[in-house]
Amino acid sequence: MINLTAQVSELSKIGSKQTEKLKKLGIKTVRDFLFHFPARYDDLSKIKKISELEPEETATISGEIIKFAIKRSWKKKIKIIEIILSDKTGDIKATWFNQEYLIDSFSYNKNIRLSGKVKLDSKGFSMVNPVWEPVSKIPNHTGRIVPIYPETKGITSRWLRWQIENIFQTDFKIADPLSQEILKKYNLPSLKKALYHLHYPSNNDNHLVAQKRFAFFDMFLIQLKSLQLKKNWRKESSQILKYDKKSSEKFLSSLPFSLTKDQQKSFREIKEDLEKPHPMNRLLNGDVGSGKTIVAMLASLQTVNTSFQVALMVPTEVLAYQHFKTFSKLFSDFNISIGLLTNSYKLTTQKTKKLSRNEILKKLKSGKIDIIIGTHALIQKNVTFKNLALIIVDEQHRFGVKQRAYLQQEISKINGGDITKVPHFLTMTATPIPRTISMTLLGSLDVSLITEMPKNRKAIITQIVLPKKQNSVYEFIRQEIKKGHQVFVILPLVEESDKLTEVKAVITEHERLSKEIFPEFKLGLLHGRLKSSEKEKIMKDFSNKKINILVSTSVIEVGIDIPNATVMIIEEAYRFGLSQLHQFRGRIGRGSAQSHCFLFSKQSTQRLGVIAKHLDGFKIAEEDLKLRGPGDFFGFRQSGLADATMQNITNIKMIKAANTEAKKIINEDAELKKYPALSQALEKMNREIHLE
Ligand code: ADP
Ligand code: MG
Repeated sequence: MINLTAQVSELSKIGSKQTEKLKKLGIKTVRDFLFHFPARYDDLSKIKKISELEPEETATISGEIIKFAIKRSWKKKIKIIEIILSDKTGDIKATWFNQEYLIDSFSYNKNIRLSGKVKLDSKGFSMVNPVWEPVSKIPNHTGRIVPIYPETKGITSRWLRWQIENIFQTDFKIADPLSQEILKKYNLPSLKKALYHLHYPSNNDNHLVAQKRFAFFDMFLIQLKSLQLKKNWRKESSQILKYDKKSSEKFLSSLPFSLTKDQQKSFREIKEDLEKPHPMNRLLNGDVGSGKTIVAMLASLQTVNTSFQVALMVPTEVLAYQHFKTFSKLFSDFNISIGLLTNSYKLTTQKTKKLSRNEILKKLKSGKIDIIIGTHALIQKNVTFKNLALIIVDEQHRFGVKQRAYLQQEISKINGGDITKVPHFLTMTATPIPRTISMTLLGSLDVSLITEMPKNRKAIITQIVLPKKQNSVYEFIRQEIKKGHQVFVILPLVEESDKLTEVKAVITEHERLSKEIFPEFKLGLLHGRLKSSEKEKIMKDFSNKKINILVSTSVIEVGIDIPNATVMIIEEAYRFGLSQLHQFRGRIGRGSAQSHCFLFSKQSTQRLGVIAKHLDGFKIAEEDLKLRGPGDFFGFRQSGLADATMQNITNIKMIKAANTEAKKIINEDAELKKYPALSQALEKMNREIHLE
C-alpha cells in the first residue's frame, strides 16, 4: 500500500533533480501523480499486421526483433539504433536517434510492441523514434488507448505513465468526497475507479465517464462555494431601507418616459431586498441601453429617503462624471446632495462646487453628501461614511465567484458608519450573461434581468463594409451630419500592452479623416493617454454638439450616453470580440432617430455576421458561447478548470444536479464539518481555480 501523502522524493526512483522538475507540473506528493490528468489520448489499442500498414498512419504493431544494430551517422556524429521487427506478415525498420542506451533493452527474438508513424520508401516500411515496450508487459505505452500527459523538460509522458503504473500496482487508499448515494444516483464511478479509468482507459466510454465524474465534482464544489457565500452574506445584518411611494412616484413622473416592464420588475425585486434586515446581493443584468441607471436611481432614492448614504462605483472617470451629471439633473427637484470623487474630480452639486479631496471626505463623514459617485478611489482606506447603506457598482464586467468574493470583501472594509451593519450591494452589468453560465458561476447572488429595450428605440441597422465600399459610407455620414446627427469612429486597441501604437493609430486616423475626408466638419479625438480634464472637455463638446465626429479608441466602450449620435463606424472590426462589438454598438441607437453601425473589415467573418444579424445581447452571448465554446468564452481557459469541466459548464442537467446536491449539504452543514474530504477539496479549489 502506497501512502498518497508522501512526497515524491520519498519514492525510490525519484531524485532531487526530478523532484524539482515535477514541481513545475504541480506534482509534489504521490497523490499529485494521480491527479495529473491526461491532456489527451492516443488510441494505440489496435494491433495491426505489418502487411496491412498504410503509409503516414499512426499504428501499433507487435513482433519479434530479427536484427538490431548501432550505427553512426558520420556527418553528424549521431548514434542511431536500428532494429528490424517481423510479425510473419512482413518486416519494418525502426530507428531511434541518440538513444544509445536502448541497445541494452533489445535482443534477438525479443517480442516488442511499437507505436508510431509509418513511413514507406523504396526500402520498405519504417518508423522513426517509435514508442515501444516488451510484449510481456501489460500494455502501457503501446497497445492501448495511451494517455498523453502535460509534460515538461525531462518529464515525459512515458515516464509519467510508468510512475502512475507503479502507484496502481502497489495499490493505495483514497477517500471519496462524493457519497455513495450521489454516485449511485447519477451513475458515477467511485474516485478510485475514475482515476484508474482516466489513466487506463480500456475503451473510449470508460475514460469519458471518468471525466464526467470529475466535471460533476468540480461543478458541485463551485455550487457549494456559491451557496456558502450566499448563506454567509445572508447572516450579516444591514439597514432596513423603507420604500417611500410618494417620492418614488414624484421621481418617475418627472421623467419624460415611463419604465419598461423589466425595469419595473427589477426595481420591485431590489426594493423588496432593501426592506430586509439582511444585505442584498444582486446583479442587475441588462443589455446596453436598457435603462439600468434609472433603476439604480430609484434604489438610491429609497436609501436617501431613509436618511442613509449611497456609493456608486464605476470603472472610468468619464463614466463617473456622466453619472454625476445624470443624477444631479434628475434629482434636481429633490433635496439630495451628490458628490463626485475620482482622482481628478472633486465636486458636489450645489452649483457644482469644486472641493478639495479632504473637504469631500469630511462631508462624507459628516453625512452632508447623500450620494457619492466615483471610481475605485471610493474604496480607499481613508474614505469614511456617516452611514453608508447601499453600494452600487456599475459596468461590472467581471463576475466570477472569486471576483465577487473579492469585491464583497473590499466593500465590507469600507467604513460605512455603523460597524454592525453591512451595506446592501447592487452590481450592474451590460454584459449579457447566458443563463447556463450564470447558473454555474453566479449561484451566490440574485439576478434581475432587463431584456426588453425602451419602446422609443428604432432597431440599429448594422452592415459589414468591405474596403471598396467605405467611401459610400463616408458620403452617407455627410448626409447624416447635415441632418444634425453625430458620429462615432472606433479604432481597435491593438494590444493591451501597446498603448502607444494604439494612440498613434487613432491620432493618424483622426488627422486623415479631418483633412482628407471631412474637412468641412468638426472632429474630436479621444484616447486613453489624454488627461481626465481633456477627456471630459471632449465628451462635453461632443455632448453639446460642438463636435460632429468623435474618433476614439475603445475607451468609449462603457456607459457613454449620447442620444444624438446615430452613426458608428468600427474600424478593423474583425479584431474585436463579439461582446465588445455589441458594447460599442450600444453607444448608438439611444434616441428616436434611425441609427446605423458600419463594421469596416478586410473581409466578412462569422463573428461579424452574428453582430450584423442580431441586436439582442443575450442572443449574441449565446452565439458567442457556441462559436468559441465554453473554454474561451469569458476567458475560462485561464481559470485552471479541467477541460472536461469547462466543456460541461453549460450542461444544464449537470449544473442542476450539482446544485441540488450542494443545497442538501449546505442546508444541513454549511461549514462542512461532517465532510472533511469535501472541505479539503473546496479549499484546494479556492487556491487553484480562478473564476473571474
Ligand atoms: P444602460 O442600461 O446601458 O446603463 P442607461 O441607463 O444609460 O442604459 O439608459 C440609456 C438611455 O435610455 C438613457 O438616455 C435613459 O434616459 C433612457 N431610458 C431609460 N429608461 C427608459 C425608458 N423606459 N424609456 C425610454 N428611455 C429610457
Ligand atoms: Mg449604464
